[in-house]
Amino acid sequence: MGIYINAKCQKCGFSFSDGYKRSALNSKLGLPFIKCPNCNTVSKTGNQIYSLMNSWEKRKYFFIQILQTLINGIAISLILFMLSFFLKFINESTTDKEGYVILIICLIVGFIVSVIISYFYNKITIAKLEKAYKNKDERYFADV
Ligand SMILES: [Zn+2]
Repeated sequence: MGIYINAKCQKCGFSFSDGYKRSALNSKLGLPFIKCPNCNTVSKTGNQIYSLMNSWEKRKYFFIQILQTLINGIAISLILFMLSFFLKFINESTTDKEGYVILIICLIVGFIVSVIISYFYNKITIAKLEKAYKNKDERYFADV
């Protein structure tokens, strides 16, 4: 999953994304403008900070974050389940029933960890962007 993007300055072609980068689930959360460090041209990014998103953009943002949290939850659960083999919590004497219980515990822990990570990651990202927007951070943002 994922599309490949290469964000470039409209005027001089400077690559903001350092060449091609994988953009898995793009929730469009970001600063709406970017200032080229090469030629100072201000380009639109197509992104928006959270407080200026409309209700549709906010819904889309939440949907993508929930999807991302589920994907991360499954990934963390699988890693925990594989670890339980590696650490011999599951071995030759483990019954099917015990195996299922361990799997369910891995899923619960995996999803809890994923929700906590998502919550703080999004909270910090939103706050950082709001601050950068407010301060008109010259590295990424310029008033037009
Ligand atoms: Zn430029």
